[in-house]
Amino acid sequence: MFGRSTNPGTGRSGRVWPVLAALLATVIIPSACMLWFMDAAMRNEALAVRQRLVQAYGSEAAKAAKRLDPYWAARTEKLILPVGLSPPEAFQHLVRAGLADGFILRDQAGGVVYPVPPSVAAGRVGRVPAGLLAGAALEQDGKAAQAAAVYAAVAAQTSQGDLAAQAAVAQARCLARAGRKDQAIEVLVALMGAEQLAEARDDEGRLIVPGAGLFALQLMGDDRAGGFRAVADRLAAWLNDYAGAAMGSSQRRFLMAALREVDPSAAVLPTLEAEDLAAEVLARGPVEPAPMRLSPSAVAGVHLLAGADGRVIALLRQDRVLTDTRRAFDAEPLAGMRLTLTPPGAAGARGEPFLMQPAGAAMPGWTLRVDLTGGDPFASASQRQRAVYIGTATAGIVAVVLLALSVTFYLGRQVRLTRLKNDLIATVSHELKTPLSSMRLLIDTLLEDRYRDIEQAREYFALISKENERLTRLIDNFLNFSRMERNRRAFVFAPLSVEEILAAVMRAVPDRITHPPGQFELEVADDCPPISGDRDALVTVVLNLLDNAHKYSGDPRRIVLRAWGRNGRLHVSVSDNGIGLSRRAARRVFDRFYQVDRSLSRAAGGCGLGLSIVKFVVEAHGGTVTVASRVGEGSTFTMSLPTLNLLNHRRAAPQGGTDGC
Ligand code: ADP
Repeated sequence: MFGRSTNPGTGRSGRVWPVLAALLATVIIPSACMLWFMDAAMRNEALAVRQRLVQAYGSEAAKAAKRLDPYWAARTEKLILPVGLSPPEAFQHLVRAGLADGFILRDQAGGVVYPVPPSVAAGRVGRVPAGLLAGAALEQDGKAAQAAAVYAAVAAQTSQGDLAAQAAVAQARCLARAGRKDQAIEVLVALMGAEQLAEARDDEGRLIVPGAGLFALQLMGDDRAGGFRAVADRLAAWLNDYAGAAMGSSQRRFLMAALREVDPSAAVLPTLEAEDLAAEVLARGPVEPAPMRLSPSAVAGVHLLAGADGRVIALLRQDRVLTDTRRAFDAEPLAGMRLTLTPPGAAGARGEPFLMQPAGAAMPGWTLRVDLTGGDPFASASQRQRAVYIGTATAGIVAVVLLALSVTFYLGRQVRLTRLKNDLIATVSHELKTPLSSMRLLIDTLLEDRYRDIEQAREYFALISKENERLTRLIDNFLNFSRMERNRRAFVFAPLSVEEILAAVMRAVPDRITHPPGQFELEVADDCPPISGDRDALVTVVLNLLDNAHKYSGDPRRIVLRAWGRNGRLHVSVSDNGIGLSRRAARRVFDRFYQVDRSLSRAAGGCGLGLSIVKFVVEAHGGTVTVASRVGEGSTFTMSLPTLNLLNHRRAAPQGGTDGC
C-alpha cells in the first residue's frame, strides 16, 4: 500500500564535485598541453637531428658520386684501338686486357668493323666446279663410295686450293657415309696439315680447313685415342688466332661453340663470351652509345661505354659495373652508413632507402643508395628520450592529480563542516527561542499573579513543563547530533532483548503519544531475537520515530509500534496515519536539517535532526532504516538490526548464511 524508498543519501556531498571537477580541469588541461608541447618539441628535435644526419650522409654520398665521373673518364681513355692491329686482333687484345665483357669496334665513319656482320664476310660465291657436281650426283644417288672416289680425284687433280679443300671435305663426308670412318678422319687430318690450303674458303666465304677439323672431331666422337687431342688443340689454336687467316666472326663463334660442345673440358676459348655478347648486342640493331658516359644497350643488363674517339665500344654487364665501381665510390664510407650503386629503374627494389643520390654525369639514371647500418640510430635514441620524458611527465601529473584530489577532499570536508556549523547555529538559536519565550511569558504571568485561580496556575505550570520537555528534547537532539558529528558518540554495546528496549521506551514515552486510548498500539512478536546494542541510543531512535509519528499526524491518530524477527534480523517499525511523504521527500528525510514543510515542522517543535540521528545510530549498529510512505495516508519507518545470533554466526563463520529467528 505504501510507496517505498530505502537508504537515502545525504545529497550534500554532491556539491563537492563541481569543485573537484574545476580542480581536475586546472590540473589536467595544463598537463595535457604540457604533454602535447613536449611531444611536439621532441618530434621537432627528432626531425632536426634527422636532417643533420641527412646532410652528413648526403654530402658523403655526393662525394662518392663525384668520384665516379673521373673513374669513368679514365676507363673511357683506355678504350682506344691499339695501333697496327687488325680489327680482330684489336678485339682479342681488348678482351685479353679485361677492359669489358665484350667490344664492338668501329671505323672513323662509325661503321662496325668487328664483329663483322655476316653480309660483309659472305660474298665470295663462285661457280661450282664440274668435278664436284659429278660427285654430288653420285652422292645423291646414294653411291657414297663412288662419290668419294670422284671427290678424291678432283682433290688430287685440281690446282685450285678452294676446290681441292672442298673436294677433300666432300670425300671425307662420303667415306663416312660409306662406313669408312677411319679413312674419312685420315683425309680430314691430312687436310688440316696442308699449309697451302689454310686460306681455302667455301662458296660463302667461310674457311674450309677449320670446319674440316671440327668434322674430324665429330667423327672421332668419344674415341679420344685416335688423335682427337691433337686435332682439338689444333682447332682451338686456329680459333684463338685472330692474326692469321681472316675468319668471319660468325664462323669463329659457331666453331668455338661447336668445339666447346665436343670438347667441353679442354677447350680454352677466352674470347667466346665476348664474341657472343657483341653479336647479341649487334643483332638487336645499331649501337649508339652516348659519348663519355655509360648508356644502356638494347640487351637488358648490358651497358655501353664508348672510347674517347668512339671507335671502341665497351660492353659492360651490370654485375661488372657494380663490382668495378665499388672501390671507386666507396673509398672511405662513414660509420653507420652503407652505399650501394643502383642501376636505372631499380632504386626502390630493396625497400625504402635512407636517401638517394644521383650517381654522377657519367652514369645517367644510376643512383647511389644510402642505407643506415644497424637501423636508424637517432630513432632509437629519440625513442628512449621520449620514453623518459613521458614517464617523468606522467609521474608528475599523477602526483599533481593526487595532490589536487586530497586538497579537494579536504576543502570539501571543510566546506561541509562550515555549512553544518552555520545551519546548526541558525537552527539552534531559532529553535531555542520559541520554548524559551513561551516559558518566559508563562512565568511572567504567574509572577505577576495574573491567573484566575489555582487551576489556571496549574495549567500554566503544565504548559511550562511541556515547553521544558520540548526544550530538553531539542537540546538532547543537538547534543546527540554534535557528538555524532564529532564522532564522539561512544556506543556501549551489550546483549539486549527487544522487551528491554521497548520497556525503556514505554517508560520514557510522553503521555501525548499513548493517550487517548486507542491512539497507540504496541505489537511485539513472541520470538523476537536478542541483539547487541546500546540501549539508550536505541530508545532515543524509537522515541524519535514515535515523536515524529505524533507530530505529523492529525486526530484521530493511530500510531503502531511493531517488533518482529525475520531472516536473522530484528525489525522495529513505527507506523502512523499522518500526512505522509512524497517520493522525493521520502528520499531526503534522513538528510540533516531536511524538513518537508519548515513552518509545520517548527510548529511541531522539530529541527530536522531527528531522522539523521536515527540513521546514524542504526547504521552504527550495522542496521538499516527505511521509510515507506504515501502522501495523505501515513508513513512507516522501519529499522532492521542484525541479531546477536547472526553477529556470532558471522564472527564464527564469515562466509556462512543464517536462518534468522
Ligand atoms: P524534525 O525535527 O523536523 O521532525 P526529523 O529529522 O525528525 O526532523 O524529520 C525530518 C522531516 O521529515 C520532518 O521535518 C518532516 O517534514 C518529515 N517527517 C518525519 N517523520 C514524518 C512522519 N512520520 N510523517 C510525515 N513526515 C515526517
